[in-house]
Amino acid sequence: MTDPGSRFLPYGRHQIDEDDIAAVVSVLRSDSLTGGPLVAEFEQAFAERVGARFAVACANGTAGLHLAAMALGLGPDDAAIVPTLTFLATANAARYVGAEVVFADVDPATGLMRPEDLQDAHAKAVNRKIRAVIPVHLNGQCVDMEAVAGFAGRNGLRIIEDACHAIGATYRTRSGDEVRVGACRHSDMTVFSLHPVKTIAMGEGGVVTTNDPDLHAALLRLRNHGMVREASRFVQRDEAFDADGQPNPWYYEMPEPGYNYRASEIHCALGLSQLRKLDRFLARRRELANLYDRMLAPLTPLLRPIPRIAGCASGWHLYVVQMDFPSAKTTRATLMRRLLGKGIGTQVHYLPVHRQPYYRSRYGNALLPGADAYYASCLSLPLFPAMSNGEVERVVAALADELAQAE
Ligand SMILES: *Cc1c(COP(=O)(O)O)cnc(C)c1O
Repeated sequence: MTDPGSRFLPYGRHQIDEDDIAAVVSVLRSDSLTGGPLVAEFEQAFAERVGARFAVACANGTAGLHLAAMALGLGPDDAAIVPTLTFLATANAARYVGAEVVFADVDPATGLMRPEDLQDAHAKAVNRKIRAVIPVHLNGQCVDMEAVAGFAGRNGLRIIEDACHAIGATYRTRSGDEVRVGACRHSDMTVFSLHPVKTIAMGEGGVVTTNDPDLHAALLRLRNHGMVREASRFVQRDEAFDADGQPNPWYYEMPEPGYNYRASEIHCALGLSQLRKLDRFLARRRELANLYDRMLAPLTPLLRPIPRIAGCASGWHLYVVQMDFPSAKTTRATLMRRLLGKGIGTQVHYLPVHRQPYYRSRYGNALLPGADAYYASCLSLPLFPAMSNGEVERVVAALADELAQAE
């Protein structure tokens, strides 16, 4: 029974306004479609927004994670700890540079890696040279970065935050400071995605932030084929300089191969325009999440919103509930199909990555019960800034209806 007057509600959706369109069109009419001034302008605005010294725009969040792994110099002798409850790209970034992945468990309630999960993963992987950890701010809520940084400091680990879900999120330290995700207060680098399903859109796009000038230089170089253009860094003097000691105007060097992971002017124009709306989008996402929380309360204990982390202002990439499907006498697949029939899109974030065929065949069947429990009961409901309060009511009514029918 789809109400003909009601539109389909995806679990997430971008919001593009006329000024975003105008920003992109003006690039199309300009002299540079890529490699122009908007890349740096976008990077500067992004760095300022999250409170980092540097931001590097790139092709997508996955490229950002790969660049970060390369910038740390991770390689085949190394391993990185990755929470298993994440998108594929977090773990794959380690594999791209040949490093092994050590999967950490997560809190079954929030899906976030806890300090004890990090400690367990580290203790279990005695025969590996663990050099990094990639905490994931799942759904937009923040990992206890202060604890992660403490552990990493004691054990010589570098830290890359995967904040693809958490643009605009903040967390509170034990001394009461509010820290913006991306400021890298407790990490080496933070990686964001601007895929349209995330909070702000570039089409495809990503950003890596850092406060470290050397990492910044490495990210810029690796994003652009590994090319070096500063004469002071040339090592092949006879190739680089003419008889007068002037650098040859065409010359560049490549100390190690990088990639073409650049973001174009077109993408950065959209990113810059969308960044100006971030606060508005976040406020609306928070309102909708609060409304869901209130409206879903009568459906407990069969269905519960994910508990909120104290001191964290979520980026609200996703609105996730946990459902006791067996007690509700249904399955997740059945419920999802029935909701789809009512024009309501839902999704599951995520099958724990250690259960993917590739990682199973590489590392065997890991025992990560927190992640398995989270996965078994999670369901992402529609959440996007253009959603109306009435549409939240529609989703909640459909859920209530399904639960009542399944009894
Ligand atoms: C989306 C996402 C990525 C990858 O970002 P893309 O821009 O799609 O490449 C990485 N990690 C997490 C947790 C994500 O949700």
